[in-house]
Amino acid sequence: MRSEPKRKLSAGTLTRRDLLKTGMLALGGFLCPQALMGSMCPTLPYEKSLSFYNLHTGEKLKTVYWSDGMYVLEALSDINQILRDFRTGDIKPIDTGLLDLLHSIHGLIGSRGILHVVSGYRSPETNALLRENDGGVAAKSLHIEGKAVDFRLPGCSLKTLHKAAVRLQGGGVGYYPALGFVHVDVGRVRYW
Ligand SMILES: [Zn+2]
Repeated sequence: MRSEPKRKLSAGTLTRRDLLKTGMLALGGFLCPQALMGSMCPTLPYEKSLSFYNLHTGEKLKTVYWSDGMYVLEALSDINQILRDFRTGDIKPIDTGLLDLLHSIHGLIGSRGILHVVSGYRSPETNALLRENDGGVAAKSLHIEGKAVDFRLPGCSLKTLHKAAVRLQGGGVGYYPALGFVHVDVGRVRYW
């Protein structure tokens, strides 16, 4: 690990540790100025919004899901709807931590693009069905708990998306270039 230069800092100067605390340290060279000025600075009043496009149903949603320090219940309900199990129609609350993770990924990349969702919530029945067709689907998938989403972001390479998700260490991150999506969840931090 590189040692920090020993120098005195004047009052008000942000140290490396301060920057890390506030998540404002430039990461990997792909952090844009908007990300620093807006969504990643906790001292500024702001709203958190997300945009989704469900690739299976064609539904679109752009919504402010967090405002004035609180989650917006109506927006959460709309998100639960668009991320439902499209095969069975079953709805389960999507973990708000997952929404914050998606928002942070967006901020880190500096994108305002719409998230193209391949898979959000999955009912146990759908997960079992997918497991029959694909051995790579986990029996205890976090999709069943509303804690995982598979998605891509047009205009952003999967590689960049994957890199941003890994950097944030918000949970599990899976890279599926052959299928054209990245999986993120708010379970244990792990990568595949
Ligand atoms: Zn997944």
